[in-house]
Amino acid sequence: MESRLLDILVCPLCKSPLRHDRRQKELICRADRLAFPIRDGVPIMLESEARELNATEAAPAAATESDSAGAGSTTQP
Ligand SMILES: [Zn+2]
Repeated sequence: MESRLLDILVCPLCKSPLRHDRRQKELICRADRLAFPIRDGVPIMLESEARELNATEAAPAAATESDSAGAGSTTQP
């Protein structure tokens, strides 16, 4: 259905696949740390419309291919 369409969308900047955040209704590019809004079911693939992710949001939820854990950015209480 719609989610299928969203699944194949890629970032207009870096061309990497976007993550669909259903709760926030956004398409997330972790590489660019941008969130593209989805309005009325239509993804707005414009850099000017994208929201910048904060550090927490940009952090990978699960372990990705990070070989060297040198990022000491996780400062959550
Ligand atoms: Zn990107």
